[in-house]
Amino acid sequence: MSQATCPVCGTDARSPFRAPQPEIAPDLDMRPGEPTRSTLRDWIQVCPQCGASAPDLSALPQTARAVVESDEYRALSTSGLEETLPFRRWALICERTGDRAQQAEALLQAAWAADDAAVMTEAAGLRTAVAALWDGTQDVELGLRRLDVLRRAGLFDAAEAWAATLSERGPDELARSIIGFQRARIAARDIGRHLISSALPPPARAPHVSHGKRATTGFWSRLLRK
Ligand SMILES: [Zn+2]
Repeated sequence: MSQATCPVCGTDARSPFRAPQPEIAPDLDMRPGEPTRSTLRDWIQVCPQCGASAPDLSALPQTARAVVESDEYRALSTSGLEETLPFRRWALICERTGDRAQQAEALLQAAWAADDAAVMTEAAGLRTAVAALWDGTQDVELGLRRLDVLRRAGLFDAAEAWAATLSERGPDELARSIIGFQRARIAARDIGRHLISSALPPPARAPHVSHGKRATTGFWSRLLRK
């Protein structure tokens, strides 16, 4: 590793943060458990000179410069919650450089930062933006995460409609468990955080499912480790 610098302004950048591995199950939106969870504020590096923000500043593409120097980027610092700013900045860079998947992750992380600051209106607004980016996804994991994002944004009608869409796709048993859990929480008008482990079938049955014929992603195996 040669010395890292901010590609926008040339200021020295420290090496990227390496979060510890989680030891506790994630939330239903896949926010990792502790000890990873509470390191959220360290996940994004912010250049002290120009305000460029990214998980790894030195890896920013040259095209990020125009974004960081834009009025819209500067305006982020005077709108919204300060704790969410690094994530919203990174999200804008992702958006402008065409990485919608990373943009959604960044906005969801911003929502987590708003959760931690107990500013629920901002958290709900950020989740609404994430749900829009993930609208219509065919990916099983993203689909289930989107269901949690809609519920926690308080968009209960949209959440219930999305749960019905996911159910029509013939989900496997684990996905059915999560959808059923979410539907009960939606019916109860619950916007709270829940561990994914609380939505899974009893552990004795889960390993059987994981060896079923349906090809599963690393998603389930990661869940079942916990
Ligand atoms: Zn910089």
